Amino acid sequence: MNLASPQQKINLLGLDLAAMRAFLEGMGEKPFRALQLIQWIHTKGLTQFSEMSNLSKSLRESLANIATIQAPEIIHQNIATDGTYKWLIRLSDGNCIESVFIPEKTRGTLCISSQVGCILNCDFCSTGKQGFSRNLTTAEIIGQLWLAVRVLSTNNKEHDRAITNVVFMGMGEPLLNLDQVIPAINLMRHDNAYGLSKYRITVSTAGVIPGMQTLRLATDTALALSLHATNDTLRNELVPLNKKYPLAALMIACKDYFKNEPRRSIIMEYVMLAGVNDTIAHAKELICLLQDVPAKVNLIPFNTFPNTTYQQSDPETIHRFQEKLISAGIFTSIRRTRGDDITAACGQLVGDVQDRTKRQQRERERIEQSSRERV
Ligand code: SAH
Repeated sequence: MNLASPQQKINLLGLDLAAMRAFLEGMGEKPFRALQLIQWIHTKGLTQFSEMSNLSKSLRESLANIATIQAPEIIHQNIATDGTYKWLIRLSDGNCIESVFIPEKTRGTLCISSQVGCILNCDFCSTGKQGFSRNLTTAEIIGQLWLAVRVLSTNNKEHDRAITNVVFMGMGEPLLNLDQVIPAINLMRHDNAYGLSKYRITVSTAGVIPGMQTLRLATDTALALSLHATNDTLRNELVPLNKKYPLAALMIACKDYFKNEPRRSIIMEYVMLAGVNDTIAHAKELICLLQDVPAKVNLIPFNTFPNTTYQQSDPETIHRFQEKLISAGIFTSIRRTRGDDITAACGQLVGDVQDRTKRQQRERERIEQSSRERV
């Protein structure tokens, strides 16, 4: 008889090896079973304990009584003309998040969300305009990878084992949810789960300095910093978090980050906004800022969204900016925009956020007000 209601059951999808061992020990089971369970759940994709053939019948029954394996649910799939997938994923409380899969010739990148909405409200990002509801749980974070692996391998055999990289560049600020993000990274890295190397997982942050330190102690994944501006006045405007963690302190934290791994660099993301941060003077200021910082720069053409006042820099300006940085010895690439015909590009992910910040409402009022003023 099943006594526990589904709500009270523990969701094993979100347990990394340490947590799974502790859970099994709590049941009076041998901790080595943790590896078997993780393999069934993440490598084989099972959700039914009854199918886990190397576990004893009694363990399978006890697990079914107290635990569950519950992934979030894809409610909508969009495939762009360039092959990019975007999934709208519903969580158990009705909130929706988005994840994106970007296939390329030699790799496939899954872009995942870490929060429902985002607390940070960067001015050029449409996720920010949705407001914020809550942090995702580990099960919801790893659940995006779990789902993508399943969908891609059943949709198209060519895509079997298609996910080679994971980036935390979807909705939310991962460094404000490290308690849930770190166990998810542990699962991504683990050989009995997804076996991704530290170079193939990238955590992107708007610059939460204490989170950078915590992340570095807990894992050694790649780090990207959403820099976007070369001085505090401009960055305060574009990335309000800068008022709390200004550039000088941020650059010190960046120098510190890979100090024990001198061959690694932080990826500096820099969204190119026409007339705002894209002049040669800005490039020069960026070169000074990044002096002595182990950095590579990734220039991101701005992706538009409704009611934004920003515009994309033209390709010539972006190339000139790139050349200037390269001539100063800074490795600089330009991000190729993917999936923009299905609004799957950077900064376009919106999901369906039960906003607790009232930001959506204020944004609507601002737009109504400015259209009244125009009349
Ligand atoms: N909060 C984290 C994770 C989000 S990552 C962070 O700020 O890094 C999303 C990346 O896309 C960030 O570099 C973000 O600055 C960038 N981005 C946001 N809006 C964008 C837009 N409209 N066009 C292009 N890039 C954008």
